[in-house]
Amino acid sequence: MENEAVSRNFIEQEIDKDLAEGVYEHVCTRFPPEPNGYLHIGHAKSILLNYGLAQKYHGTFNMRFDDTNPTKERMEFVESIKEDIRWLGADWEDRLYFASDYFDQMYECAVKLIKKGKAYVCDLSAEEIREYRGTLTEAGKKSPYRERTVEENLALFEGMREGKYQDGEKVLRAKIDMASPNINMRDPVIYRVAHMAHHNTGDKWCIYPMYDFAHPIEDAIEGVTHSICTLEFEDHRPLYDWVVQECEFENPPRQIEFAKLYLTNVVTGKRYIKKLVEDGIVDGWDDPRLVSIAALRRRGFTPESIKMFIDMCGVSKAQSSVDYAMLEYCIREDLKMKRPRMMAVLHPIKLIIDNYPEGEVEYLDVPNNLENESLGTRKVPFCRELYIEQDDFLENPPKKYFRLFPGNEVRLMSAYFVKCESFVKDEAGHVTEVHCTYDPETKSGSGFNGRKVKGTIHWAAAPYAKEAEVRLYENLVDEEKGVYNKEDGSLNLNPDSLTVLKKCYVEPGFMEAKAYDSFQFVRTGYFCIDAKDSTPDALVFNRIVSLKSSFKLS
Ligand code: ATP
Ligand code: MG
Repeated sequence: MENEAVSRNFIEQEIDKDLAEGVYEHVCTRFPPEPNGYLHIGHAKSILLNYGLAQKYHGTFNMRFDDTNPTKERMEFVESIKEDIRWLGADWEDRLYFASDYFDQMYECAVKLIKKGKAYVCDLSAEEIREYRGTLTEAGKKSPYRERTVEENLALFEGMREGKYQDGEKVLRAKIDMASPNINMRDPVIYRVAHMAHHNTGDKWCIYPMYDFAHPIEDAIEGVTHSICTLEFEDHRPLYDWVVQECEFENPPRQIEFAKLYLTNVVTGKRYIKKLVEDGIVDGWDDPRLVSIAALRRRGFTPESIKMFIDMCGVSKAQSSVDYAMLEYCIREDLKMKRPRMMAVLHPIKLIIDNYPEGEVEYLDVPNNLENESLGTRKVPFCRELYIEQDDFLENPPKKYFRLFPGNEVRLMSAYFVKCESFVKDEAGHVTEVHCTYDPETKSGSGFNGRKVKGTIHWAAAPYAKEAEVRLYENLVDEEKGVYNKEDGSLNLNPDSLTVLKKCYVEPGFMEAKAYDSFQFVRTGYFCIDAKDSTPDALVFNRIVSLKSSFKLS
């Protein structure tokens, strides 16, 4: 057990302490997205962290939409967020909540603060409030409205709710300390007027609570114990504690902050992704080059691979960036044993076996995954005309090239040895056909008649293979120049982030494959059937990741 204690992250250590001291009897966490965009890999960290803690401590996990700001939120995002979280495997059971359902309670909390002399209605403009707030080195100035009586404040706040005032005309502020070294404590605004319909409450409200006031109340109402958020809220924690204390919640939640997950060479900011979508540079929020959850799913990542990645990243208070190659490592590890392998020729040229009988076909038994026998075998047709990769043949090979060249013999994977006898070129000088002879004594599984060759290449039987489109992805941004342009903050795009190969040929054995199914294309990489564009008659594959990696587990 000692080891387990040592390996606990700092949040778990805090929870252990709270449970040991009896601060809480059971653990309740939540994931509180604002429904104003799609979730990305960073959110996955927060989801899996919160859900994982609830599981580990046999506690509860709440799914809560933090929908208190009607200006930016849309129902469209509620559904996509739910789908993404379910896909990641975090199960909120029947604990689905909307912060907007608590507007009545939040209003009551505000009234309570006013009655306690802890909140006041202020008529300063947003601009003036900012000026009065002071700076890091200078204390703030008290608002001239700070000493209004409780009765006056109650009446004015009621008036705000009744719609007597325009947007920005009056706000409700917490009365804390204009000289606090923490600027968040200098009488923060907690309610504002906004004449705007809300997707859940319609026209019922024309005042809306501010995040720093609403969030602790949401947590407290739900009985959340550990409100886990990212580091930028560390300075807001005293305000969080002030709100739950002054609103007199029993057994209030506590906030714990951790560092956001950042990945190198990817774009996560909603603003940037929105622009890429609007400018038509990517094909929607789920373009496989993005790292939204929807994009990762479409690219062929699995929930297990994302979980492995998040676990490897760990939880810490130190801000850092994780190499994208680590995510690639995780998907390779996950698919390696799980998924079948197949032969696919991405840049085809014909290989003709001159001594193989015309019109004949034989079906070879091929294991689906050499490292995992339980995936079984399949029948792969073999005949006189095949496709092979262009670069598996060279007219004038360099040293140590062991694939096809005139006079050389190679093994056709899972089939026979073939020896290159001649080749045909078109007028432009491109090789169009490679002619070989095969040795019937070298059938795969036969022991090759005791012979050896140095190269093995893959192939697909020309008359039987399925034509497919294959999409190869690279970083969306230019690795050398950095993600953001230093001058104007725009993105440094990589012009070659997408390569579309049209006439590729894949072996016909996997025709029942459906959207999101993935395969290892032998010698090439992992590929997945595109959920948006692939049809049984016109297959489209996304490259998830190539086989080779620069990433090493340290
Ligand atoms: P973004 O700025 O990327 O749009 P956000 O913080 O505005 O993200 P929210 O919907 O408010 O998005 O976030 C929901 C939860 O996800 C919050 O608890 C937030 O702290 C967490 N979160 C957001 N980005 C990351 C990240 N990169 N790493 C870890 N957690 C994150
Ligand atoms: Mg946000």
